[in-house]
Amino acid sequence: MNSFFTNFNQLPNNEIITKMREKAQTDKVPIINDDSLALLLLLIRVKNVKRILEIGTAIGFSSINMALVNSDIEIDTIERNEIMYQEALKNVSSCKLNNRIHIHFNDALDRDNIKLLGSYDLIFIDAAKAQYIKFFNLYEGMLNDKGIIVTDNLMFHGLVNNSETIQSKRLRNLVKKIEEYNDWLSHNDHYHTSFLTIGDGIAVSVKI
Ligand code: SAH
Ligand code: MG
Repeated sequence: MNSFFTNFNQLPNNEIITKMREKAQTDKVPIINDDSLALLLLLIRVKNVKRILEIGTAIGFSSINMALVNSDIEIDTIERNEIMYQEALKNVSSCKLNNRIHIHFNDALDRDNIKLLGSYDLIFIDAAKAQYIKFFNLYEGMLNDKGIIVTDNLMFHGLVNNSETIQSKRLRNLVKKIEEYNDWLSHNDHYHTSFLTIGDGIAVSVKI
């Protein structure tokens, strides 16, 4: 990662965030990288985002950072892994954000069984990469007019557009799925999408 501006970007910080960063390092939890986070928080500020849906909570790192931008932001976030879910609950609670971050312990593909607020200004897709088209189609109907959808990890550690060189079949298929998503999204006429080589590759889709 390019750490050139690390000390200039003022990202939310507190004791719990520091601990979450350490935990992500040691346990290899794929939390959002700082450049992508800076972009995400910028979008929240300039679009005056109030309601957010996140698919893929992990330990709550991105949710907590987004919630700390403004005290009237409310977030629904979905996580299917129980260990992650429990850890996220603990972190959100330590930050006293339980009233604004609602963590749903579900598979995001099971949308009908998840009680969501709806009318989102921002949807952040950051869960299983092979399911991105499904997540997009399942949830875009809950986006407000002029809402935005942000998708993370679209370069997948630089492997995207290099899938032929990958030995592992499983990994190769996963990367192909991401390539498929990028192509599909770039041709989606209902959104204008910017693909940015920030962090691990991030797309910002604006509803037309
Ligand atoms: N947004 C987090 C990182 C999420 S990592 C951050 O930046 O801090 C991706 C998470 O998505 C993992 O914890 C994984 O368990 C979860 N996930 C993957 N597929 C999912 C699905 N279908 N439904 C819900 N959660 C899912
Ligand atoms: Mg990510």
